[in-house]
Amino acid sequence: MQNSHIGIIGAGVVGLSTALCLLRAGYQVTLIDKADPGMGASFGNAGLFADYARLPFARFAMMRKMPGMLLDNTSPLSMQASYIPSLMPYGWRFFKACFPTNYERGKGALTALQHNTQQADRLLLQETGSQDLVKSQGCLGLFATETGFSDARAGDLHERQQQGVNLQFLSADEVKELEPDLAEFHAGGVFYPDTRFTVSPVSLSRQYASHFSKNGGILLQDEVQAIKPNGTSVVLTLSDQEISFDKLVVCAGVESKMLLKALRVNIPLVSERGYHLTLNAGDKKLNRPVGWLDKAVFMTPMSDGMRLAGTAEFAAADAPLNPECTTTMLEHARVMLGQDPEIKSTWVGSRPSTPDSLPVIGPLEDYPQISLAFGHGHLGLTLGAITGQLISESIQGITTSVDLAPFAPARFN
Ligand SMILES: Cc1cc2nc3c(=O)[nH]c(=O)nc-3n(C[C@H](O)[C@H](O)[C@H](O)COP(=O)(O)OP(=O)(O)OC[C@H]3O[C@@H](n4cnc5c(N)ncnc54)[C@H](O)[C@@H]3O)c2cc1C
Repeated sequence: MQNSHIGIIGAGVVGLSTALCLLRAGYQVTLIDKADPGMGASFGNAGLFADYARLPFARFAMMRKMPGMLLDNTSPLSMQASYIPSLMPYGWRFFKACFPTNYERGKGALTALQHNTQQADRLLLQETGSQDLVKSQGCLGLFATETGFSDARAGDLHERQQQGVNLQFLSADEVKELEPDLAEFHAGGVFYPDTRFTVSPVSLSRQYASHFSKNGGILLQDEVQAIKPNGTSVVLTLSDQEISFDKLVVCAGVESKMLLKALRVNIPLVSERGYHLTLNAGDKKLNRPVGWLDKAVFMTPMSDGMRLAGTAEFAAADAPLNPECTTTMLEHARVMLGQDPEIKSTWVGSRPSTPDSLPVIGPLEDYPQISLAFGHGHLGLTLGAITGQLISESIQGITTSVDLAPFAPARFN
């Protein structure tokens, strides 16, 4: 039993994974969230353990496409005018991340995380008895036109092959054999046999939280109002008490930026909102997540219905849901299924996104008793387990399984 008491802010998939890894290492762990576990961004994702995702978004080819996408109100990318000032530091860093050497460095860093994350999440799933919430049927990424498909084969998909990602190109007929209920809206695409998905992201979080509590972890429902370093320890101000910890891990998703402001830690983290629709697709069934890559949406068969998830809307986390986004997504669902699905529910939430597409993982230089674990953007479910493992290794003072330098908070200084 380690004798340090560690506090963690945020019980999303990243905080929960971190809490479980620290508990496994023998620490006393208190996990604090103002809401129930898994109700932030971790609630609404597309459910993919996206093993293939090893390419940062920031590159000049993407930058060139952005103005056209922003002007097209049916494209998956949009920006709320009042949020533009908050995007300035992010935009500058995004531009810098586009330079080929930075892009290649980012690719290497994501690949290193991906090489380790499957083993880390399989262990968490087994330890928490959550294996039945995860299916191993691969996933499909489809293109509406032959041109789009062949451009991707020469571009991203070629890069992924070079990275050693297990993928197969499928014709439209081969896709039909895998997913007979899908409409014929596409010209084929890519199959990733090793991708797994969860049928319920929130059940996974709840299962992790329940295992944590049953095994001696303390789960507190309260809002952290301030973080105050105190010598080598750290004090958290909650709504009506203060708690002192030997060490702290900040896993508060998109809200981490605000929490760290008083410590003069300035991470260019932004709210990249995504939406999902839960659909009643009638007699249409899917066996695995299916992405319509031109529209940047994924349709995943979940336990409560068919979930269509996507969009990248740079907007304040608390801004109202934009009905234009859900209308466009419903139209995509109609095309993918070839029939009008019924909407059971809609959801919007904020991905905590960094300009270089790399999460922030590791201790603060000025306050080594405080570690950060957030900024996973599109990949928090995929990279949650390895993040927890790396934070645990770093707090134990042992060599980390992946070099933490590319993820250091100080890279933004
Ligand atoms: C539409 C969509 C689709 C996605 N699809 C995928 C996918 O298929 N695969 C994948 O890997 N990723 C996907 N993602 C990304 C993934 O969901 C996120 O990266 C991940 O959920 C981030 O987890 P987190 O724990 O960092 O943040 P969150 O889940 O947001 O958790 C942060 C927690 O901190 C708490 N908190 C914040 N401030 C305080 C405070 N002051 N006091 C107490 N508690 C606080 C919040 O209440 C919250 O519970 C998707 C995201 C979206 C939006």
